[in-house]
Order: sequence, then structure tokens, then C-alpha cells
Amino acid sequence: MIGLNLTSSRHLFGLHLQDKRTPRDTEVMRVLSRFMLSASDAAHFPPPSLPEVAFLGRSNVGKSSVINALVGSKLARTSNTPGRTRSINFFEIRRAGQPKPELLFTDLPGYGYAKVSREISEDWARFVDPYLHQRSSLTLCLALVDVNVPPQASDRQLLEFLEAARRPHAIVATKCDRLSGNELPRALKTLGQEYAGATIIPFSAKTGAGKDDLWGLIRDSVSKTPAL
Ligand code: GDP
Repeated sequence: MIGLNLTSSRHLFGLHLQDKRTPRDTEVMRVLSRFMLSASDAAHFPPPSLPEVAFLGRSNVGKSSVINALVGSKLARTSNTPGRTRSINFFEIRRAGQPKPELLFTDLPGYGYAKVSREISEDWARFVDPYLHQRSSLTLCLALVDVNVPPQASDRQLLEFLEAARRPHAIVATKCDRLSGNELPRALKTLGQEYAGATIIPFSAKTGAGKDDLWGLIRDSVSKTPAL
């Protein structure tokens, strides 16, 4: 496999390549990803075709970094300008060697940043709400929450929205590498109390912690999706 990036070559929807290869590992290949389109109006969403996994979170939560860590390349932009992404970005995800993509990632606008809150609420009405309520191909919503900050009202609102909309969802606790010793278990316990009953996956884009677990969750969810 030419030009392989080690990170992406080691992951296939959560299957981790061991150094000692077994015959099964020969089936395991890298994940390829491609930007598809950007939609800031519900009329511009692509026709539903494949299971979709949505990434949501407050601005600066580390959403682009999570997406990039999962696919092993700089697919989503990372920035220090909160609230910059004002559209839903659709990305195709497929296994190398497969003729077609098998799922889509959707990157939704960050929320909770005071300066742009008015614009964000307009976005919410114009395309975020229709996407989350009506999108028939939406399989899993990943709500990203920064494990380093105390529970935020805007995160709670998102989780309540997803509950009310009956969307399957899980919490990705980002930037776990910033907490050490027993700080991390304590912060995860606080999150677990705040969002009782939710699946919470601790994640670090910096160290790769949680990547296999998150791919496992995505794979399970996609495999349970009836054909569209
Ligand atoms: P987005 O606005 O939600 O897309 O967030 P970005 O992915 O652009 O990340 C925002 C900031 O957090 C950047 O400075 C990143 O380098 C930093 N960051 C993101 N993920 C991690 C992580 O896992 N660990 C650490 N230490 N920093 C992170």
C-alpha cells in the first residue's frame, strides 16, 4: 500500500492491527475519507444514501481534532477561531479497497460561543434543527464535551434536544490527556452524574486514547442501520 500513513493504516472501523499479523489482519485496511459538500441550508443536503454519524459540540471542544484523529488525516479544519464553521460539512468514509463509501461523517457548527450566538441560533433554525429532526439517514450523534471544563448549560441543552428528538447518541469526552492521575476518573464521574445513562467515551486526539472505542461504537451503530 503506497503512501500509507501509519495512523490511518492501523485502523479499520475500530479494528486494530497488531504487530503480529494474523490471516484476518490481511482483510484490515486503512480508512479513506473525502470532503463531499458543505450545506448551510436544508435544501442543500445531499439525498440520504448512507448511514451518517454527526459530530456536535461547543466551539473549540476539539471536534475537528476528533474527526481528523479518527480518519488519520487533516480532513476537518482545526482552528482557534470559535464559531467559524457555519455549515454542515459532509464527508465520505470508506475502507481502502472497497469500491464505495460506507458511511458519512457530518461536522455540525460549533455552538455556545457568546459573540456569535445570534448567528448560531439562526443557523440552528435554518439547517441544524431540520438536519437533527428530519434526516432519515442520521444513525448516530456524537456530542463532544470537553472533560476539562465543568458541565455547561449549552451541552446539557444539546443532550436534552437529542433525547427529545429520540436520536441515538453518545458523549465523547475530549482532551482527556490534559488531566492526569485521578483527575480524569473524577472528571468522568462528574460527566456520568450530569448525563446519567449516557454512553461516555474518553478521548484524546493528542494521544489517540479512545479512538478504537469510538470506531467500535460507530461500527456497531452503522451495522445496525437498515439499508436506506
Ligand atoms: P473545534 O473548534 O471543536 O473543531 O476544535 P479544534 O479541533 O480546532 O481544537 C481546538 C483546540 O483544542 C486546538 O488548539 C487543539 O489543538 C486543541 N485540542 C483538540 N483536541 C485536543 C486533545 O485531544 N488534547 C489536547 N491537549 N488539545 C486538543
